This record gives sequence, C-alpha cells and structure tokens, in this order.
Amino acid sequence: MKTVTILGATGSVGTSTLDLVEREPDRFRVVALTANCDVDRLAAAAIRTEAELAVVADARCLPALADALAGTTTRVAGGADAVCDAARGADWVMGAIVGCAGLKPTMAAIEHGATVVLANKEPLVSAGEIILAAASASGATLLPADSEHNAIFQCLDAARLDSVRRIILTASGGPFRDWSTEDMRLVTPAQAVAHPNWSMGAKISVDSATMMNKGLELIEAARLFPVPADRIEVVLHRQSVIHSMVDYIDGSMLAQLGPSDMRVPIAHTLAYPERMATPMAPLDLVAVGRLDFEACDPVRFPALRLARAALEAGGARPAILNAANEVAVAAFLAGRIGFLEIAAIVEDTLLRYAPAAPASLDDVLAVDAEARRLAGERVEDGVV
Ligand code: NAD
Ligand code: MG
Repeated sequence: MKTVTILGATGSVGTSTLDLVEREPDRFRVVALTANCDVDRLAAAAIRTEAELAVVADARCLPALADALAGTTTRVAGGADAVCDAARGADWVMGAIVGCAGLKPTMAAIEHGATVVLANKEPLVSAGEIILAAASASGATLLPADSEHNAIFQCLDAARLDSVRRIILTASGGPFRDWSTEDMRLVTPAQAVAHPNWSMGAKISVDSATMMNKGLELIEAARLFPVPADRIEVVLHRQSVIHSMVDYIDGSMLAQLGPSDMRVPIAHTLAYPERMATPMAPLDLVAVGRLDFEACDPVRFPALRLARAALEAGGARPAILNAANEVAVAAFLAGRIGFLEIAAIVEDTLLRYAPAAPASLDDVLAVDAEARRLAGERVEDGVV
C-alpha cells in the first residue's frame, strides 16, 4: 500500500491524480489533500477517498471546511503552515499547487524524504538549485510530472548524461501559434485559456498562449537534467503526440508518445518504478496520421526568448522572470492588462531589478517578493 498526499488536490493536475488514485483503492491510501479555498471540491474528494486530513491554505476557509467534513473521520486544518505540515506525511506526494505558492510545501515534502512529484514547475524555476540540494540531502526521490519532463525522464532512463547530445522539448504553440502579433494584441482571457490540445488550469493555459510555459519548461529541464542550456532545444509540434525527445551522440533519438492527457505522466510517477493501467484509449497512430515539426518564432513569442536569456544568465534571473510573469498573468486574467503586456512586464521587471544570486530559500523568497512588487507597479501604472 502506497500512502499518497496531493497538494493542490482540487486543480486540474490534482483532479487527474485523484482519478488515478481512486481507481486502485487497494494500491493507494490517501493521507492528506490540500487546496487554496475550494472547500466543496476538497471536502467531496476527502469524503470519497476517506482522507485522513484536508487542509485549506487560506485559513479564512477553514470554518466552511470544518462544516463540510463534520461527522467524518477526516481531520481539517487551515493556513500555509498547515499545508507544509500536510506535505510531510506520505510515501508519495504530488506537488500540484500553482505558482511559487508551492515552494515551501514542496520543500517540506522533500525534507521529509518522500517521493515528490513535481507538476508545480514555478518553484523549480525560481529555486531549482536549492530544491535539488535539499533532495540530495534528504534522499527524497524527485519525479517529473510535467508531460515533457516526464517524457525526457522516460527516454533518459538508465542512460548517462554525457552521452546526450540534445534534449528536445516539444511545444504545441498554444492557441495563438498561427496568429500575428497584431492579432494577439486584443485577445481576451477566455480566448487565451482555450488550449487546442490540453485541458489545464487558467495560469498554465495563459502561459501556453504566451509560450512562457515553454520558457519555464526550458529552465525546468535544465534544472532536472543537467545538460548545458544550449543543448536544450524547443520545437513546435502542433499535434502534442510526442511529448519530448532525447538525442544521443550516436545518432539515436528517443521519443515518448502518448495521448494529451496528464493522467499518462502522472500514472508513470504514481506507479514508478512499476507501471499501472490508465483509462485512456491507446494512441491510434493511423488516426493521428502525421507528426509535424516547425521552428518556434521568438519574435511573436518573446517570452521564450526572455526565459532562455534568464536561464543563461542564471542567478536571480529565473526567479524574477517567474514572479513578474505570475503577477502579469493574474493581471491579464483579471482584465487589467492586455495579452502582449504580459511579456512586456516580465521584460521590464528583468531590466529594472538585478539583485545578487540567491543563496538560500529566504533569498529566493525576497527576490520573488521584490519582483512581484515591481511588476505590480507596472500593472498599476498601466505603462510598460
Ligand atoms: P489549477 O489552477 O487547476 O490548480 C491549482 C491548485 O493549487 C488548486 O488545488 C488550488 O486550490 C491550489 N492553490 C492555488 N493557490 C494556492 C495557494 N496560494 N496555496 C495553496 N494552494 C493553492 O492548476 P493546474 O493546472 O492543476 O497546475 C498546477 C501546477 O502544475 C502548475 O504549476 C502548472 O504549471 C503545473 N502543470 C499543470 C499541467 C496541467 O495539465 N494542468 C501540466 C503540467 C504542469
Ligand atoms: Mg508541460
């Protein structure tokens, strides 16, 4: 029996994880489920899985959670520290909180020494070195759930990194992959969250539309698989059938293919090193018919260029990029700024702020806070 905790259990990745866990009650037992404040969904999932503990990060939502779970065996708690405590209790922990809010809970799970599954990519971007050092100190096993990184992990299995020539991340290009910059100027949040191939939370859907998601994934790949940045490439692959590839020095290129459903990479991490069945229909290659590859356009999608520059410069740059992007995406979703201003605010924040490289988690959190403040100023000004 594997004990399981899901951080961010009510979101897109959290719900996919629950779906798999609930299919095999003899194999998985739920210890804790957390959410920000989605009390109804959290309580319903806790009741279905007979979770030991349900936690809301926003303590104001705790009374409603306590009401919803009154008379059950599930204990309840609220607040950011309670989320970190909940991260410490299971063999297998899914990190599916959105944004840098997941950083401390992820660190708590890693310090506990569990198997920690990283869907939540923003902490890896902002504090990658610190997270990896904590994992090697505690002996925690890190497994990537992001579909591209899970694909690379599967293609790298048992291989030596010095025999890798290139890592090739595939990108769907998002809903605006064929749009001109001028046409992208007026896109609405509803258009930006309508991804052609994947169903995901709002923030990552906007990141896919700006291609900042691929930029964050470039940095994520460099953290997880230590090959030089110039050997990690991005290729547009609009079918999202190949989830990423590894090119070896002998000329072999390995790819992982599968349906565009996060339950496939999540199942890989949930059963690892075994395999488990998933409910998806097998990939029908004849129906897929063809696989196309194109170069990405860094002019129409400046976020990708900014992320690569941040990765190459290192230090605090990835944390600034990520924090400014989180602020800008939230402002776009709230209707306060236009779509093209997202990358413009990120670039502006990177230009205005050049702190020393963070050496500790507190340093990263300080950089994150200041970058958010600066990006927030630009949102207020409405001038970039
Ligand atoms: P989502 O918005 O659907 O869900 C986010 C979850 O985090 C919810 O349970 C929410 O209650 C919780 N949460 C939000 N703010 C919080 C806070 N301040 N403190 C604690 N909990 C909080 O997001 P998602 O699409 O499931 O994505 C989650 C993470 O996984 C993101 O980092 C995303 O980049 C990554 N990811 C998602 C997908 C996908 O298919 N959705 C794929 C790859 C990677
Ligand atoms: Mg991805």
